[in-house]
Amino acid sequence: MTALELDERDELGQFRNRFLITDPDVIYLDGNSLGRMPVLAADRVKDALDRQWGDRLIRSWGEGWYDLPKRVGAKVGELLGAQPGEVICCDSTSVNFYKLVHSVLSNRPAGRTKIITDNLNFPSDIYLLQGLAKQFPGVEIVVVESLDGIHIWPEQIQEVLDERTALLTLSHCCYRSGFRHNMLTLTEDAHSFGIPVLWDLSHSAGAVEIDLAECNVDYAVGCTYKYLNGGPGSPAYLYVRQDLQAEANNPIWGWFGQNRPFEFSLVYEPAMGIDRKLTGTPPVLSMIAIEVGVDLLLEAGMDRVAEKSRQMFTFLFDQWKANLADLGVGFGSPVLDGLLHGSHGLLTHPNAYAIDQALIQKHQVIPDFRAPDGIRFGFAPLYNTFSEVEKAVWAMRSVLESEEWREFEGEIGGVT
Ligand SMILES: *Cc1c(COP(=O)(O)O)cnc(C)c1O
Repeated sequence: MTALELDERDELGQFRNRFLITDPDVIYLDGNSLGRMPVLAADRVKDALDRQWGDRLIRSWGEGWYDLPKRVGAKVGELLGAQPGEVICCDSTSVNFYKLVHSVLSNRPAGRTKIITDNLNFPSDIYLLQGLAKQFPGVEIVVVESLDGIHIWPEQIQEVLDERTALLTLSHCCYRSGFRHNMLTLTEDAHSFGIPVLWDLSHSAGAVEIDLAECNVDYAVGCTYKYLNGGPGSPAYLYVRQDLQAEANNPIWGWFGQNRPFEFSLVYEPAMGIDRKLTGTPPVLSMIAIEVGVDLLLEAGMDRVAEKSRQMFTFLFDQWKANLADLGVGFGSPVLDGLLHGSHGLLTHPNAYAIDQALIQKHQVIPDFRAPDGIRFGFAPLYNTFSEVEKAVWAMRSVLESEEWREFEGEIGGVT
């Protein structure tokens, strides 16, 4: 099917209008890094400023602000297949990851000294583990290495799980190749050795199906500014399965995690539910913007969103085969039968950085570069079209054929 035919049949097509598109000629394929802005976000934040803050002042805490972490968390939880009361919105993904790993390590049975992860994981998660290992002497990190930079085979993880393992933690969809771990089987494998699992959902939530309840996942974290379209720096979320909430301590005690914060007792008594994982005052303006993005995904339905994401991935693969493979561009995402992937495709080329710059500066195509040789084309099913993917591929072909990228050779710098 052509891009136009696919766009005509797209049941989610009308959701594009729910996002602010200031320049229809810009092809934005970086929703996996910073999602577009929902139109309604501006109204909601303006209301939060003018009416809630400006007029209602402190009264607004009792008129919706105080409940934001739980209310927004519950909606995010619906996208993740969590039960009510298992997800809360707060802090950054990195801080939430720290809180959960710290709590697992504090409660681990004697003799469990290993944390297992892989080298396709997001660097921040690895840094946090390295820092935590210093705080828990004797704990060692086992980093399973990908053999090809794209996949981690389940056997590679299964091989290292044992009775000495305290935690298995992985990115569900890996930020670079987009490889997606099998959440169900790996969680089961870990549980068979009594190992809890912590999944980082940053590159999955809002783009692929997730069913935390069905997979019996113990812990999860993720961010809201990617496929959830929550806005720059919007707070993250964390998930703790209901039966683990009483034992999962928060290492950063603060009044928002206190059972009765407004008694102002000087003794810390942790809240009983998921709010135990809170620490301090939430960033209200950001939190209000997140809700809009999450509502749009709930309205569209994650089944349809994930189905379109799959179609876009296949479409990119076909376009790559037809238009880019002959120019020395590689496909760096999982394509073998039966393998899962996320909602972006990685195209590889030795001059990827210069090509990415040429696409952005000369063609109004915005993907992103990932060192050393990758360009990610991210698909946000609510606003991206098949025609955009097609045009981006044509633009990349033209950059390569004309050698336009040569203008951008040289130092790699700044935010990519
Ligand atoms: C984007 C991303 C993060 C972001 O962490 P912050 O603390 O929000 O900066 C963490 N983990 C993964 C896997 C990510 O993709």
